[in-house]
Amino acid sequence: MKHSRRNHLKGAGNLLGAAVLGATTWRLFSPPAEDAEFIAQGRRFAWQIDPDKCQYCGLCATTCVRKPSAVKAVNDPKKCSNCVVCYGHISDSHIESEKIDSEGARVCPYDAVTRINFSGGPDGMFLYAQDPKNCVGCAKCVKRCNEHGTQSMFLMIRPDLCLGCNECSIAVACPYDAIERIPREPVDDYRGDYLFDSTYYMGEGA
Ligand code: SF4
Ligand code: SF4
Ligand code: SF4
Repeated sequence: MKHSRRNHLKGAGNLLGAAVLGATTWRLFSPPAEDAEFIAQGRRFAWQIDPDKCQYCGLCATTCVRKPSAVKAVNDPKKCSNCVVCYGHISDSHIESEKIDSEGARVCPYDAVTRINFSGGPDGMFLYAQDPKNCVGCAKCVKRCNEHGTQSMFLMIRPDLCLGCNECSIAVACPYDAIERIPREPVDDYRGDYLFDSTYYMGEGA
């Protein structure tokens, strides 16, 4: 499944969102956040992460010139299994559902992975997303999801946060050569596209 994202990534002229996500259809279409930063508009190229090469080493969080990093984790809901216990959310996969919120040991050091009960009941269907305001791109949740789950979580360089450096410091540091410069369209601003909006799923905000 990761391969499909890579094929999009390699396609010249593809929209950046499609390149990263493998499908534009899951984008959340929340309205642009009023305070969203938008820096790289007008640039013809953007730095982006090849999900096939990334090995979740953690350097994306520490080597970006921006603090916090322009790299954020996202969860593709089309690939997520909506598990009761999410590998990217809780480190103890045997914990009872009722105890997750109160006692579950979080994978994320910043508790940025959110869990929303979609179907009701302790063993129903759960929606997981990363809050970009708290995520620093450390890749801990992505690593767990990719090693144990459905590989629905991945890292992306947010175009609205990236400065578009001539030489991306993460690309220089990445031990797996996972950062690539890819074409982008002038209209690809992506402001707010990845801000989690639970009302979309609840049928109130679509
Ligand atoms: S530096 Fe490279 S391997 Fe490490 S998390 Fe970033 S993209 Fe992945
Ligand atoms: S574990 Fe790291 S990459 Fe995942 S949401 Fe938390 S800060 Fe972001
Ligand atoms: S180009 Fe610059 S701002 Fe963008 S991800 Fe790389 S180091 Fe960070």
